[in-house]
Amino acid sequence: MIDYAAHFRTRNVITPQSEPIPGSAQVQNSAGGYVWAVDDWKRLDRFLVLGTEGGSYYASERILTRENAGAIERCLKADGRRTVDRIVEVSQAGRAPKNDPALFALAMCAGLGNDTTVRLALLALPQVARIGTHLFHFAQFVEGFRGWGRGLRSAIGRWYTEKTPDALAYQAIKYQGRDGWTHKDLLRLAHPNAPTPAHAALFRWLIAGRDGLGERTITRGPKAAPRPWVYGAVESDSLPPILAAFEEAQTADGNRLVQLIQEYSLPMEVVPTEKRTPQVYEALLPHAGLTWLFRNLGNLSKCGLLTRGAWDRIKVVTTRMTNAEELKRARVHPIQVLAALATYGGGHGIRGKGEWPVVPEVLDAADQAFYLAFGAVEPAGKRTVLGLDISGSMGMAQINGIPNLTARTASSAMAMLALKTEPRCTTIAFTDHPTEIDLSKYRRLDDVCKYTDSLPMGGTDCSLPMVWARNKKIEVDTFIVYTDSETWAGKVHPTQALQQYRREMGIPARLAVVGMCSNGFTIADPNDSGMMDCVGFDTAAPNVLAAFSRGDV
Ligand code: CA
Repeated sequence: MIDYAAHFRTRNVITPQSEPIPGSAQVQNSAGGYVWAVDDWKRLDRFLVLGTEGGSYYASERILTRENAGAIERCLKADGRRTVDRIVEVSQAGRAPKNDPALFALAMCAGLGNDTTVRLALLALPQVARIGTHLFHFAQFVEGFRGWGRGLRSAIGRWYTEKTPDALAYQAIKYQGRDGWTHKDLLRLAHPNAPTPAHAALFRWLIAGRDGLGERTITRGPKAAPRPWVYGAVESDSLPPILAAFEEAQTADGNRLVQLIQEYSLPMEVVPTEKRTPQVYEALLPHAGLTWLFRNLGNLSKCGLLTRGAWDRIKVVTTRMTNAEELKRARVHPIQVLAALATYGGGHGIRGKGEWPVVPEVLDAADQAFYLAFGAVEPAGKRTVLGLDISGSMGMAQINGIPNLTARTASSAMAMLALKTEPRCTTIAFTDHPTEIDLSKYRRLDDVCKYTDSLPMGGTDCSLPMVWARNKKIEVDTFIVYTDSETWAGKVHPTQALQQYRREMGIPARLAVVGMCSNGFTIADPNDSGMMDCVGFDTAAPNVLAAFSRGDV
C-alpha cells in the first residue's frame, strides 16, 4: 500500500522547511525556506529599532533600506497618524540604539503623507529631533522627499524658537554642524521670528558670529523686485553667557580652560582637539553626557585617568555608569553599553585608534549598566527555553552598523537578560543541530560575547529548540527564539515542531520570536495566538516577552 497520507494530509502535518505548509500563507525567505511575512507595522517597528545600516547577510544596505521604505510608505498611506505616533513613541522612549531610522521615517511622513500626516509629522519634529545633530540628519533626509515649502520652514523655525535661549545656545555649541548642514543654513532657510531679545541675539550670532550683532541690511524678496531688509543692532548682553565661555575656550588653555569647562559645564565638543588634555578629560567627568562617557572610556584610560588603583576616579565613573535614573534620562541604550563594553574591554580602539590599560571595575560597571538600561523587568516565572540562532547569517548581520557587534553575539546578550530575570530558564544554541551551551547568569557580557563568537557556525533550523526539548522530555512553558527567521534546513517547520511538542508533552507551550534583522520574515504563525513576534533590542521587548510568557497577551 502507498501511504498516501504521508504525502498529503491536513492534520498533524510535518512539512520540510524547503516547502510551504499546505494551505498556509507562507512565503519564501532569502535562504529558500518557507516562513511567514511580517505585516508592514511590524516591519516599521523592526526598522525603527534595528535600522538597516550595514545590510544583512542576504541583502545589501541599499536593498534592505528600500524594502523597509516601501513598508513605511504603505503604513503612512494606510494610517498617517498611527505611523507618526509610532515613530514618536519609539524615539522618545529611547527604545532604539540609534535615532536615525526614526528621523528618516518621520522625513518620509513629512514628504509623502497626505496634508494631515505632513502636519502631524512636522508638529512632532522637536520630539523626534531632540538635539542639533538629529535636526541636521532630518534636514538631510527630508530633502529626498519634498521641497522647502512653508510648512517645513516653520517646523524648523519652531525648533529654534521653542527652546529657551540657554538650551538653544548649548545645542549650538555642542552640535555645530553635520551632513553639510549648519544652524546658519537652517536659520537662513527658516527665517524664524525671534520670540525674545535673547533669541534675536542668538540667531544673529549663529548666522554671522559676534560681528553679526550690529545693524545689518539684507536683500530679500523675488529676484525681479528685491527689497532691502534692515535688522537693527542687538545687545550682546542678551546672549546666553555660555557663548562667551565657548568663545574663550577656543583660545584659553591650562587652568583657565579647565575653569571654563567646570563653571559652564562645557561639553568636549567645544574644546579644540589639540587641547583635549588629561586635565580637560578630568574636568568633564562629573558633567559630561553619559553617552559620551561610555564612548570615551578608552580615551579616559589612554590618557592615564582611568587606571588600576585610581580608586577615586574609578568611583566617579562607575557610579555615573550605573545610575539607573541617569541612564534613563540620557536615553542610554543597552546596545550602546554593549558596544562600549566590547570596545573598552578589547583594550584598543576600532581602526587602530590607540591602546589602553583595561580596568576590570569599569567592565563590571558596564555589565551592570547593560541590564539597568533595559529598565525594570517583571519576571514571568515560567519554565523557559531560550534558543539562540548562531548560524552564519546571524554572524554576518551587524546590529545598527556597530563594528564587531553581530546579531549572533547581540542575541546572546539579550538571552543573558532573560537568564538574569527568569528563575527557571535554560539556553541552547542551534545551527542545523542543537548545542547545549554554557550560559549562566553570573557570566559577564564581554565574556559571553567572546564565547558565542567562538561557537562554530552552520546552516539554520529554527525548529530545533522545540525538537530538542521534546527529545529530552524537558518541560517548557515558553520558548524564546532569537533569530533572523532565515531558516531552511529543518525536516519540520518550527510551528509544527511546537505543535508536536504541545501534543506529546501535554503542555500548551508558547513561542516568542525575537527578530534580530530588519527583514520581512518570521517563524511565528500569525494565526496561532500562542506565538508572537517582538523586535530584538527594543528596550520594551523584555517586558512584552514576560507578559506574553505569563499569558497576559
Ligand atoms: Ca541563518
